[in-house]
Formats: sequence, C-alpha cells, structure tokens
Amino acid sequence: MQLGRFPRVPAAYLPTPLEEMERLTKRLGGPKLYIKRDDNTGLALGGNKARKLAYLIGDALQRGCDALITVGGPQSNHCRMTAAMGAKYGLKVVLVLTGEEPPHYQANLLIDTLLGAELVFTSAEGKEEIDAVLEAQAKRLEEEGRRPYIIPLGGSTAVGSLGYVEAMMELVQQANLGHISIDHLIVATGSGGTQGGLLLGSVLLNASIDVHGIMVSPREPDYMKGLIEGVVAEGYRLLTGADASDEQMGGIETAINLHPEYAGPGYGVATADGIEAIELLARTEGILLDPVYTGKAMAGLIDLVKQGGFAGDETVVFLHTGGAPGLFAYSENFQRGMKQR
Ligand SMILES: *Cc1c(COP(=O)(O)O)cnc(C)c1O
Repeated sequence: MQLGRFPRVPAAYLPTPLEEMERLTKRLGGPKLYIKRDDNTGLALGGNKARKLAYLIGDALQRGCDALITVGGPQSNHCRMTAAMGAKYGLKVVLVLTGEEPPHYQANLLIDTLLGAELVFTSAEGKEEIDAVLEAQAKRLEEEGRRPYIIPLGGSTAVGSLGYVEAMMELVQQANLGHISIDHLIVATGSGGTQGGLLLGSVLLNASIDVHGIMVSPREPDYMKGLIEGVVAEGYRLLTGADASDEQMGGIETAINLHPEYAGPGYGVATADGIEAIELLARTEGILLDPVYTGKAMAGLIDLVKQGGFAGDETVVFLHTGGAPGLFAYSENFQRGMKQR
C-alpha cells in the first residue's frame, strides 16, 4: 500500500494535534481520554472534510477538471470545505443544497457565499433524485464549456476515504512516538467515509484499534453498515489493486461498530444530550463541538463510559471532526437549554 501513488493537494495542516483530555477524564472517572484535533485542519475553519477533499481534488485536477459539484444540507461543513478548496485551487464550485433556502444566511451558509460558491437549492430527496440534480448541474456546466467533477454526499467515495486511511496512519504514528497505546477510537458517522477510511487503515496496519461510529442520523444501522462496507471494499481494491478475501471482508464486517442510539429524531436536529456534551467539553477542556455531529458523538462517548463500555485502564481517543462553525446556526438550542436549568 502506498498512498503516495494517489494525487493529493496539500490543503490540510497535518499532522493534527493529539491531546490528552485530563479534566474530562477526571470528570467522567473512566478510561484515559484523548482528542485528535481534526477540527484544526486549517483552511476555512477546518474539519474532517479537508482530508477527504485533499485526495478528491487531487483526483479532479489529475483528470483535468475545472469545476466541482457537491451536495449537502444548508449547514453542510462538507459544502463549506469544498467551496474553500475550490477557491484555493481555482475551480468553480456549485453547491446543491437540500431543503429550503433560509431567510438569513448564517454560519456555514454565510461562509459558502463568502467563498464564492454558486448555490442551488433543491427540494429533491433520496439518493436517486439528488443524483439526478447533480447530473443536471454537470450537464449545464459542460454546456458552458467546463469539465465538472461530481463529489457525492460527504465526499465518502473510496478516493475520499484515502484521507482517513492516512489519518489512521498518522494517529498510530503519534501514538507510537508518544508511547500511547490506543484501544478505542470514537467518531461521528454521517455518510460513513471517515469511519470506513479509519477502519481500512486500522486493518491494513494491523493496529488493533476498535473504531466506533456514533451515528448522527436515525437510519437503519444495517444500511449504514452496508455503506461503510462498500467504501472499505472499494478502498481496499484501490489501494492494493486486489479484492479483499472473503475472510478479510468477514473480519471487516464484524469490525464495523455502529452506535445508533444517540442520533435523536433527525439529521441536523440537536439532542438534549448532545447540547449537554457540548457544554461539558467547552467547560472542562475549552474545546468547541457542534450540535449536528460531534456533540452527538461526545454524548455517545460519555454514555458508553457511564455504561462501563470501556475498562478503566483503557485509552479512548475522540476524533474531533470539526463542525463548530455550525454552532452559530443553533443559538436557540442553547438559549432554550439555559432557561431550562
Ligand atoms: C461530515 C462530518 C462528519 C461525518 O463524516 P462522514 O465521513 O460523512 O461520516 C462528522 N463530523 C463533522 C463535523 C462533519 O462535517
């Protein structure tokens, strides 16, 4: 396996820090807790999408493309990061945003416009309908003489997941050099490319780190599992030039740990536990999480510690995937939370 064989743009500040969370560890009285700061990838307020986009943009440039089309909700961090990457590498960016156009642009949506992306709001729902909108936008750009590159939801393709194979290599190296033994890694799972890439990296390195995906939307875990399996199988093929054996795929399938119970009623809908987790991390470590992804993931970590999901002498790393710019679109949730206390 050689990541250097795949084109990658140098758009993220790497390695991101791996820090101990001493006060949170003490507060929860459980395993030793660390945080991997992928919220600090640099460009345009950062986040996990920088690592995926580094490979996706590398691929787009190698194919001679000059425009990017992607999709997400109006507060998508992935869309914000795609807009920033497009600006940095001189590519036109069209963002297909699902749902209604809000009366005021704020948080991620405000930044999308600042970065010069073209916004297309759509009422399309479901993968097929949305793919049709992406294709129609690609056709329009082609008619304008451009060469568009479509990046699917969350950038969770095999190429995008290479960014998280790399992140796992980086984490294992940091742990080895810092003489830290990592037992578990906790990550917010949306479209699955981050968890898939980490898992693939862990398998290829034989790292023996359990990767736990805390689901952020109320989907069937089996459906999510299928998505992640697909990314891992395709990523394996891309990296090694061969299919994973049935035995390897069986091992990978059992290693996909998904926790659906912290997602709440919907994607992008804040949960009380998530809000509480955001406040706890802010007040113990001075680190900002977000209501859509990392707050829910931290609520999962806290609950798993409380349920005795980890031994007291184990080490757990929380992957901070970013998203804090979204906080500014959720101020009402916090004000309501304050009044309740
Ligand atoms: C997109 C995103 C995730 C989820 O990553 P996937 O690869 O889509 O599962 C987690 N956290 C933040 C802040 C994100 O923007």
